[in-house]
Amino acid sequence: MAKNDPGPLTFSTFHNVINNELTSTAQSRHGINPPNKKPNPAVRVSTQEDLNRAVTAAQQAFLSWSKIPVGERRTAIYEFANGIEANKDMFAKMLTAEQGKPLSQATTEVEMAVHWARTIPTIEIPITVLEESDEHEIIERHTPMGVVGAIVPWNFPVLLAVGKIVPALYTGNTIILKPSPFTPYCDLKLAELAIQYFPTGVFQALSGDNDLGPIMTEHPGIDKISFTGSILTGKRVMASCAKTLKRLTLELGGNDPVIICDDVDIDAIIPTIGVLSFLCSSQICMMIKRLYVHEKIYDEFRDKLAKHVQDLKVGEGTRPDTFIGPVQNSMQFDKAKDLFDSLSSEGLKPVPTLVDNPPDNSRVVVEEPFAPILPLLKWSDENDVIARANDSQTGLGASVWSSDIDRANRMALQLQAGSVWVNSHFQVAPNVPFGGHKASSIGMEWGLTGLLGYCNTQSLWLKKK
Ligand code: NAD
Repeated sequence: MAKNDPGPLTFSTFHNVINNELTSTAQSRHGINPPNKKPNPAVRVSTQEDLNRAVTAAQQAFLSWSKIPVGERRTAIYEFANGIEANKDMFAKMLTAEQGKPLSQATTEVEMAVHWARTIPTIEIPITVLEESDEHEIIERHTPMGVVGAIVPWNFPVLLAVGKIVPALYTGNTIILKPSPFTPYCDLKLAELAIQYFPTGVFQALSGDNDLGPIMTEHPGIDKISFTGSILTGKRVMASCAKTLKRLTLELGGNDPVIICDDVDIDAIIPTIGVLSFLCSSQICMMIKRLYVHEKIYDEFRDKLAKHVQDLKVGEGTRPDTFIGPVQNSMQFDKAKDLFDSLSSEGLKPVPTLVDNPPDNSRVVVEEPFAPILPLLKWSDENDVIARANDSQTGLGASVWSSDIDRANRMALQLQAGSVWVNSHFQVAPNVPFGGHKASSIGMEWGLTGLLGYCNTQSLWLKKK
């Protein structure tokens, strides 16, 4: 396996990585540090030609990377994981500077990425003998697809990138990573770091502006797109991939319902509900986004949650006590402001950023805010609240909270979502499939199901002598 040593990683200059070389482009741009709007360093604006070079390199690399023993690929990924860990503090600092999230949350994200990189390659890809006789053997196995284009959003740029890079490479594909223009920095550094662990062309990264995503999804040399982002963009990606019949995985938006029963210990769960509603300034696909509270406890629950939310520290991510950092970018801020403004035009009452029992058809209930605005809704009948929770075009996560576990489990089984929890929310793990139902996803990531999303299934009809 090729080994190159580019020297210690620094976070001052940022390049594309094509064919294991740091490359430049004629045009550059920069992201901004969200709380103070100061420019972050320059990054490259990639063109069709840059992408073409990367695709050719990835196709070439695929020929050998797909054939080396899986154990060797696993070892390279483990070394990559060690490399991320060794640079953890610098990744976390950069993540706060580009994404805005508090440093403690940025550190957690980088640690999760390391954990994902170490765990996913422990999952065995099954090779199943379906039938065996003296004459023949029929085997089902899973082979890599080729060149993967990975497109990631700005809310979890490190974890979501690693959550695509590792499964793609472990299963024998090569990958070209395209970060969000809002958060290109850590993702480019992941690829620069990877130069020393992977052969030429196996893992490349290109930054760009809004034009780069569409030219990736159009490119005939890319075999699969793994996309995480909004539902609207996901539809565009799917339409574009259809032209070349690319394989694709789409991980899209959510509008997670949470049902709070009347028997919960309100004081005990309020801090957890607060975290699971406002972590990362609520810019997480799988946050609590519709909170259905039983009418018997509604007023007490609302007032205690409002008090708790008021006490959460808002500020720059570099301050150690900050819990809610800035909204990441002006596009998202304007969207959130527009939604917030809709409250008064719809005659609704915010209690800090909680919205007090809005109608089910109000914008704040129907749309994914992706900002710290949370509707609380009253319920009284179990079947009715389950129907209301399921009445959404999305189906990413959902949860039920009750001290009666039988009741909670019974209700949980009826929720339409890719992940359903009892007395928790947003629990994720690298060995557990992650994705949604309905408009929230096509396919799943992580776990064995996620790995198989990077593979073709092959039925081998082999003859015996
Ligand atoms: P977005 O859809 O605007 O952008 C996502 C990525 O797609 C970016 O890299 C962007 O540059 C690229 N892109 C934009 N237009 C494209 C096109 N036409 N073709 C190809 N690529 C294109 O999403 P965002 O604002 O970055 O992220 C927020 C959304 O992502 C929210 O809806 C959130 O729920 C969702 N999300 C989902 C998950 C999940 O796993 N389900 C995780 C995180 C975020």
